[in-house]
Amino acid sequence: MYESFLLPYPISPYMTPKPQFLYADLHIHTVYSADSIIQPKTLVDMLAAHSYIKAAAVTDHNSVRGCRVVAELARAYPDILIIPGTEITTDNGDMLVLGTYELPPKPWTPENVADYARSIDGVSIIAHPFRTYGMGEYAKNVKADAIEILNGGTGKEGNTQAKEFAKALGLPGTGGSDAHQSSELFSICTQIETSLNLDSVLAAIKKGAVSARLAKSILIF
Ligand SMILES: [Zn+2]
Repeated sequence: MYESFLLPYPISPYMTPKPQFLYADLHIHTVYSADSIIQPKTLVDMLAAHSYIKAAAVTDHNSVRGCRVVAELARAYPDILIIPGTEITTDNGDMLVLGTYELPPKPWTPENVADYARSIDGVSIIAHPFRTYGMGEYAKNVKADAIEILNGGTGKEGNTQAKEFAKALGLPGTGGSDAHQSSELFSICTQIETSLNLDSVLAAIKKGAVSARLAKSILIF
């Protein structure tokens, strides 16, 4: 009867496997945004060196040049993932599109941007809704996949409001540093239940298998 206590771990065919988490900064600007000074190589080096954040979405303003350059540099590192994307200045406020190396077709209305993301199996996210360049309550009219509920350039109040807004709409909440200089990189991340694979990451975000976190609050290793 003691034998079961001697086993290091209960062995059962019904054991559910431990969830696999990826930590990703889902909102980053490089020098291909006019207001950022982050060099693509710096981003790749810092991601490769980071102890647990292993994925980064490059979301330059109205441009996909940055994500193309960063993804090319990152090919040398098998254990990091660059999520290509862009941050579009729509008529009503900023939106992130993840999973694209191309810009959405114009005119850049929120509806068109969300439709484009859907058409390529990408992800559309309402960026920092309750901040400058945010969409505010208008986001209710947009069929976006997620709301950014933790943004590095937004105050506590704006982020809390975004979190409640996402909850009311029943949409997943993502987080990203919105870094424009290297010291701001990886301050915020999204915990995603997925493997290190772009399609799986995008699907997991849409499914809501995400949790936005302050990076300094994570104690996993
Ligand atoms: Zn931004």
